[in-house]
Amino acid sequence: MAPSPPGPRRRARLTPGQYVAGIRGGDRSVLGRAITLVESELASDVDLAAEVIEACLPFAGRARRVGITGVPGVGKSSFIEALGTSLTREMGETVAVLSVDPSSPRSGGSILGDKTRMERLGTDDRAFIRPSPSRGHLGGVARRTREAMLLCEAAGYQNLFIETVGVGQSETTVRSMTDFFLLLMLAGAGDELQGMKRGILEMTDLIAINKADGDNRARADRARHDYESALHLFPASADGWTPRVMTCSARTRDGIADIWQAVLDHRAFVAANGWFVRRREEQSIEWMREALVYGLEHELRRDPAINAHLAAMHIDVKAGRLSPFRAARELLALLHRQGCPSTRAHGALAQGTPSDVEG
Ligand code: GDP
Repeated sequence: MAPSPPGPRRRARLTPGQYVAGIRGGDRSVLGRAITLVESELASDVDLAAEVIEACLPFAGRARRVGITGVPGVGKSSFIEALGTSLTREMGETVAVLSVDPSSPRSGGSILGDKTRMERLGTDDRAFIRPSPSRGHLGGVARRTREAMLLCEAAGYQNLFIETVGVGQSETTVRSMTDFFLLLMLAGAGDELQGMKRGILEMTDLIAINKADGDNRARADRARHDYESALHLFPASADGWTPRVMTCSARTRDGIADIWQAVLDHRAFVAANGWFVRRREEQSIEWMREALVYGLEHELRRDPAINAHLAAMHIDVKAGRLSPFRAARELLALLHRQGCPSTRAHGALAQGTPSDVEG
């Protein structure tokens, strides 16, 4: 077991029942503490977190899960602020915002930044904003974000926005945990269109060209036309939905309501053709896979003998004396000899039990 952390900075843990009651009762401070718990890497927290997750699962799955991506500066936080406040203030709905920000591996710094974001939504009683779990590789961040999503759903949030920066792998991860994927873009980016990663376009349900205000309006309209033409070149997506291209301004709020209507149209469309449930099933399977990989890694790391072996293998693999594949196989064999993880009393693997598909 990992040693307990130094006392003063760690707030006392609640009992599982207290976490669940607080979450279900709409206590945002308890929700925040429960998310801190699932983000914890401490061995002593893992079982407790698993218990809270299990107890919350029956209440999860009812939110609209919307992924939002785009390069830094495109206006993601302004967009979420505009859309989020219109949902809370004009429609009386609730909104939770989570971020997947797989901190730059080199600098360790956050890409989404520490600036004060979404000030109005941040003080809105109907909204809950949680920054990305700090540090960690994407797999860990993804697992913790899924669990945070589930806790927010159990707390009754009707709309979940999962924000990520438009760099690399994180879009695929966010796509795999949401029902609708929104790509924010800027106008005047002909080169961008060519350079845009095909993969991102293929998983996008809606491209919104932001900052379509002032002098930028005409350019935004032209860009919309260009993107529409480009999207025609892609094969239709499996769920039958034709991706839409729209313009908006997070500043003037023009077009924001239409974009939300597209999210609702999409939901009705995939609910009718069976793809909503399919996508939720895929989300659950992906979650289980992540939990499994995480659980195996956890098992490997907490075994001192294997850990020592792992360190030695890193050196051999780096030096080319051992192939990565062989190293992985040897480690798995070692784990197997030490006893199958699933037969041990430990909750890490149980965290991914998927049953949050909406009925
Ligand atoms: P993020 O990095 O993608 O979250 O982008 P931000 O929301 O922080 O926005 C970056 C900058 O663009 C800020 O200075 C915003 O005020 C500005 N901005 C965002 N949306 C709009 C918009 O619709 N129109 C205009 N003119 N500026 C915007």
